[in-house]
Amino acid sequence: MRYFEYFEPKSVGEACQFLNEHEEAKILGGGVSLVVLLKNGLITPSHLVNIKTIPGLARIEWDDREGLTIGGLNHHRDILLSPLIQRHCPILAEAASKIATPPIRNLGTIGGNVAHAEPSADFPPALIALNASLMLTSPGRERKVPIEEFFTDYYENILGQGEILTRIDVPPLPPRSAGTYIKLDKITNSIAIVGVASVIGFDEKGICIYAGVGLGGVASTPLNVKGAKDILVGEKITETHIDKIAKEAQAMANPITNVHASAEYRKEMVYVLTRRALQGSLDKALGR
Ligand SMILES: Cc1cc2nc3c(=O)[nH]c(=O)nc-3n(C[C@H](O)[C@H](O)[C@H](O)COP(=O)(O)OP(=O)(O)OC[C@H]3O[C@@H](n4cnc5c(N)ncnc54)[C@H](O)[C@@H]3O)c2cc1C
Repeated sequence: MRYFEYFEPKSVGEACQFLNEHEEAKILGGGVSLVVLLKNGLITPSHLVNIKTIPGLARIEWDDREGLTIGGLNHHRDILLSPLIQRHCPILAEAASKIATPPIRNLGTIGGNVAHAEPSADFPPALIALNASLMLTSPGRERKVPIEEFFTDYYENILGQGEILTRIDVPPLPPRSAGTYIKLDKITNSIAIVGVASVIGFDEKGICIYAGVGLGGVASTPLNVKGAKDILVGEKITETHIDKIAKEAQAMANPITNVHASAEYRKEMVYVLTRRALQGSLDKALGR
């Protein structure tokens, strides 16, 4: 492992400034993935910037108009146990419950999980289905981007020099809504072969007024099945709608074959699991 220097900033501004001035510096969140990369010599940063020393980067808050705010430094365990998340966005707790083991959930952060841009990670499909946005903070500037625009390729994202993922915003859902996250893995809570998240919301007449579907593990980035909104919103959902979205999800998927599963199998499972996830959300939202 190459020698590196270690920095503990006291504020977001100080961290951004430092990162801006040191091109080869890396942000240290929970360190769960970063340390693996370091130990294997896959990255050789000049500095590690430990953002855990910055106050206020871990917070879970709810506002009736703005929705849910989750700090970039909240651990997976925080998401799993938060009463606010269980009440307003339980699909995020469901996704957190399927991540690895308790030690990883205690250390890993949601900001690190998203920023690492692993295509099979569990939070991104759920955040896509929830129409979440990310707050990216750099010296003197903040930009809010829809989560689906954040990922660019395997382990690549749009974070620029000096930028930190400081916050995740999830807009409020309609009162009658529900979500489901289904993870297909070989051993329970190991890396997803396919992950499908769906969120559906209804008005009091049972007409769909919100729909989101996110996929993980089936392309170089997590995917947003945008057709779900066009197909479902304004409709009383039927089997035909669900089938149409599952076919669209399958057509979008462009998986690779690796030791975990073949591309063909993943593609088949996208269809099966999208149907199950949508049916699950439908049943929960309509109290069936
Ligand atoms: C054995 C093992 C099993 C795992 N299983 C799963 C699983 O089943 N499902 C799953 O979803 N994940 C899994 N993970 C990943 C894990 O859950 C963490 O989400 C992930 O490691 C990153 O979180 P972290 O806070 O530890 O980030 P770090 O390891 O500290 O950082 C990861 C990357 O993100 C950058 N980064 C971190 N925080 C920020 C930030 N706030 N702003 C900008 N950049 C940032 C770092 O510079 C680095 O490039 C697993 C990891 C391991 C090692």
